[in-house]
Amino acid sequence: SSLFAAVELAPRDPILGLNEQFNADPNPAKVNLGVGVYFDENGKLPLLRCVQQAEQAMAEAPKARNYLPIDGIAAYDAAVQKLVFGDSAAVRDGRIATVQALGGTGALKIGADLLHRMNPEAKVLISSPSWENHRALFESAGFVVSSYPYYDPATRGVDVDGMVGALEQAAPGTIVVLHACCHNPTGCDLLPADWDRVVAAVQSRNLVAFIDMAYQGFGDGIAEDGAAVHRFLEAGVGFFVSTSFSKSFSLYGERVGALSVVCESKEEAGRVLSQLKRVVRTNYSNPPTHGAQIVTNVLTSPELRALWEDELAGMRGRIKKMRAMLAERLQAAGSTMDTSFITRQRGMFSYSGLNAAQMQRLRDEFGVYGVDSGRICVAALNEGNIDAVVAAMVKVA
Ligand code: PMP
Repeated sequence: SSLFAAVELAPRDPILGLNEQFNADPNPAKVNLGVGVYFDENGKLPLLRCVQQAEQAMAEAPKARNYLPIDGIAAYDAAVQKLVFGDSAAVRDGRIATVQALGGTGALKIGADLLHRMNPEAKVLISSPSWENHRALFESAGFVVSSYPYYDPATRGVDVDGMVGALEQAAPGTIVVLHACCHNPTGCDLLPADWDRVVAAVQSRNLVAFIDMAYQGFGDGIAEDGAAVHRFLEAGVGFFVSTSFSKSFSLYGERVGALSVVCESKEEAGRVLSQLKRVVRTNYSNPPTHGAQIVTNVLTSPELRALWEDELAGMRGRIKKMRAMLAERLQAAGSTMDTSFITRQRGMFSYSGLNAAQMQRLRDEFGVYGVDSGRICVAALNEGNIDAVVAAMVKVA
């Protein structure tokens, strides 16, 4: 029989499946809120001007494409450290090991592989719910993955007591995956006082914090969104940070990210870096040049950097505007829902509170596509589609 006769068909990715269904829908008024990308006010994926200008300069001075070092472009790694950790003692002392990675996903996988080499018996805790790839990613690295309480449907906020309680029960060495900001899928973030409790639990139980920062600059600002990282720095513990520039640079397909591991000393960071390089070397040898070079040039040129911060603020502001408009127009359309949670949430996503049956009706009857969990992408709303979305939501809720 065929070599592949016993290969089973894997379940398809639920969100990509939703996209296929959307593309096949003949309804001209259809709206796709299932995606995880930022669209501009015209419903288009933006090409940032800072990116365009960096690429133009690169095209005018073309370079041969040798292999990059295993850990990527040195200036890129340094720029990421500065962005994520600021002007901190850890950066100055050379205590952070940073490697260029294939997006945030690649960074998470490199970190998971390193952690598995360090302690294959460690448990992994992710938020309930979490980005759907967190579980699969850590499982594929060999870990058993469970979750800590996070979203509380009653308050439409974070169950901080439940979360901290679970961390306080966790075995020493447990890896805790945390969303730095703009929680995917709920949009509900921890408040500063909540972070203090999380850091204290991680520290007292000797847990390993793995901060996933996929949306820096999409919540309240670059520095504001990185606050959790600084709290862990102040606590003086070792921890992991994955960075993604997919959203903040609108460079999804270039796969630009980084993994940083904060260590106790420069010597320790050197050993950790050597192991990270081993993980990279045995997976894909070394990372690609183009996207990381763009990000390096933007982050390190004062003009392009200012332009980027401006464009990022524009995306952030538009999301906030859409949140306010969604809440207002739902009210105006006679919705009986308490919509205050919509503007309390941060980032691209909102847990709308609608259930799977209601989400299905949104799709089937109105061509409004969101995820069955109730997650909608607020960053895909615009003045041209919001009224149709509001009208449909009011009809199914
Ligand atoms: N973490 C979270 C929480 C995400 O939402 C995403 C992307 N949707 C990622 C990681 C992965 O980022 P990237 O696309 O850069 O791999």
